[in-house]
Amino acid sequence: GNKNINAKLVLLGDVGAGKSSLVLRFVKGQFIEFQESTIGAAFFSQTVAVNDANVKFEIWDTAGQERYHSLAPMYYRGAAAAIIVFDITNQASFDRAKKWVQELQAQGNPNMVMALAGNKSDLLDSRKDAQTYAQENGLFFMETSAKAATNVNELFYEIAKRLPRV
Ligand code: GDP
Ligand code: MG
Repeated sequence: GNKNINAKLVLLGDVGAGKSSLVLRFVKGQFIEFQESTIGAAFFSQTVAVNDANVKFEIWDTAGQERYHSLAPMYYRGAAAAIIVFDITNQASFDRAKKWVQELQAQGNPNMVMALAGNKSDLLDSRKDAQTYAQENGLFFMETSAKAATNVNELFYEIAKRLPRV
């Protein structure tokens, strides 16, 4: 029979990168052009069926504001997976993503599955530097668009496949 796996997942990344939009697309299949900024963090859950398991993601969508930074460990501690999101049209958001990767590598669960999502791929394509960076740092990289619904389900599906089968 299939295994049921519960997996805590955290989204981290700059304000405006599209974290909440990716979650909204994944959980409700919707997109809002004027998505309100997240205050603190928001919780969602959604289940994905992979070959041998049903993975129930318990999703923490964090705010991204620097003033909430000290709260971040509450959300990534004990997380099985993290999605670090940046906006492919915004270099500063990529720099911020790299900082999150460093923090997770230093303080996060060492077995955490980490995905780097270059979001807003409907605006501009291809970030070869991000692909290279992800490879060098043991993450996997996907270009996503919450708006166009590109690679959003695929992102969560890829994470579900990579989770350890305890
Ligand atoms: P967060 O601060 O990381 O949660 O970012 P939001 O999800 O609030 O999104 C910030 C802004 O970017 C909003 O105006 C969204 O509508 C927009 N946005 C999010 N994802 C995409 C996308 O894939 N493409 C485009 N063009 N805009 C997006
Ligand atoms: Mg948000």
